[in-house]
Amino acid sequence: MKIFNTLTRQKEEFKTIEKNKVRMYVCGPTVYDFIHIGNARPMIVFDSFRRYLEFLGNEVCYVSNFTDIDDKIIKRANELGISTEELTKKYADECKSDMQSLNIKKYTYNPLATEEIDGMIDLIQKLLDKGFAYKTQDGTVYYDVSKDKEYGKLSHKNLDELQSGFRELKVTGEEDKKNINDFVLWKPKKEGEPYWESPFCDGRPGWHTECCVMAPKYCGGRLDIHAGGEDLIFPHHENEIAQYEAVVDKPFAEYWMHNAFLNINETKMSKSLGNFLTVREILKKTGGPALRLLMLTSNYRTMLNFNTDDGKEGSVEKALSAYDRVSNCVKNLLFLLDNKNVKVSNEEFKNKTEFESYTADVVKDKDLSNDELSAIKKAIEYANIYFEKLDDDFNTADAITQIYEIITIANQNANANSSVLFILSMYQILNCLLGILGIEVKKEEMLDEDIQKKIDEREQARKNKDYKRADEIRKELFDMGIELEDTRDGVKYKRR
Ligand code: AMP
Ligand code: ZN
Repeated sequence: MKIFNTLTRQKEEFKTIEKNKVRMYVCGPTVYDFIHIGNARPMIVFDSFRRYLEFLGNEVCYVSNFTDIDDKIIKRANELGISTEELTKKYADECKSDMQSLNIKKYTYNPLATEEIDGMIDLIQKLLDKGFAYKTQDGTVYYDVSKDKEYGKLSHKNLDELQSGFRELKVTGEEDKKNINDFVLWKPKKEGEPYWESPFCDGRPGWHTECCVMAPKYCGGRLDIHAGGEDLIFPHHENEIAQYEAVVDKPFAEYWMHNAFLNINETKMSKSLGNFLTVREILKKTGGPALRLLMLTSNYRTMLNFNTDDGKEGSVEKALSAYDRVSNCVKNLLFLLDNKNVKVSNEEFKNKTEFESYTADVVKDKDLSNDELSAIKKAIEYANIYFEKLDDDFNTADAITQIYEIITIANQNANANSSVLFILSMYQILNCLLGILGIEVKKEEMLDEDIQKKIDEREQARKNKDYKRADEIRKELFDMGIELEDTRDGVKYKRR
């Protein structure tokens, strides 16, 4: 598999430090409000990437943090008259609830910055001891970028030019800083702010020190992959590299992956522009699987525009209709299987080897008609293209196109006369490819007892020639968002 490495600006063959083990860290949100739809992009993209790495047979240690102390948190807590702990606990819990709705897999570890202060103090002390940091009169500790010959290597910035204009650019409060890019490792406490004791002074760590300590601690060493949104390349990730590599003689991470931004109506999202959308409010309109599908339909390195139009051009409508196409096909396959008394679990193949041996067996099976065999072979070809696309820098956009091709094959070929093996294998293939993207077509919806009872009641009414009652039931279901369709294979329903 190849991934685009921000460090080298090239697609590189992905090789893990330890065989079949991936240590991956993704910078998590600052928790002082509900997460916004932009924050959902790295969550969904890298969760899907993790699922694919696991599918390829890797054991993935996936770590993401919550930033639970910073200026924005302190400001918000003061406005609300509550403690920073109370504020961050509430929004970390709300974030976890959104993550559940988005079907984000449980992280291997999900540390909180405030619980790792001791490790940060140790790191800062090491940087001071090695001469990479200096302390100013008020107790602030800065990282000295002039000591770091490789500073700027991730963001590919020309730092000398910045330095030459530094004297004019200096801001109040940073008078003692030596170079423009020197960044704060520890800042002294201010009245009314939370603080921790340290050998430098009472205060709190700078943001860039957090991940630098939590990532290797919880991943169990330096990283295979460090990821986050592209806004983090500079200065956050540049500064993480600077600190880590000043004390450890090895790269902090082998591969740096960054997702492009999600904009609203072609404009950067911001509270002041009033175009700020929370994951919570969008989820109410789309549900988790449709939102995942929408996010993954664009390549992660391409800007994603979220159109808030209420009509057909709007992103919500597009997400819903794309997901409808997917879920109707999967539900139809399940419906056909149900009619043949075949119960399936929606457990996917554990890895690619299982998938390959299953599909190799299917094409050898004598139960398939010639037409079915050629349809299944085509579906497997598309599945293989899907894997090739994911192997090419996780190109989910083109991979999803292959899913639609398989859906077309299923829709054209699967019906009540198809063999069980054909329907089942089409279902298994689709379920597997969707599962890698974390898109689950919920089986519970299919088997909703109440809907089925109503359908049975309507069938009975029709047998009794009580068409008025039958129509009433259809209307009742319609009002509850359930549409019925009478087909040759029986009554089908779909949720609007
Ligand atoms: P923050 O809470 O701002 O630190 O953001 C948490 C994560 O969301 C980081 O990986 C950011 O890069 C990412 N992020 C923030 N805003 C956006 C956006 N509009 N589009 C995509 N990613 C974003
Ligand atoms: Zn970070």
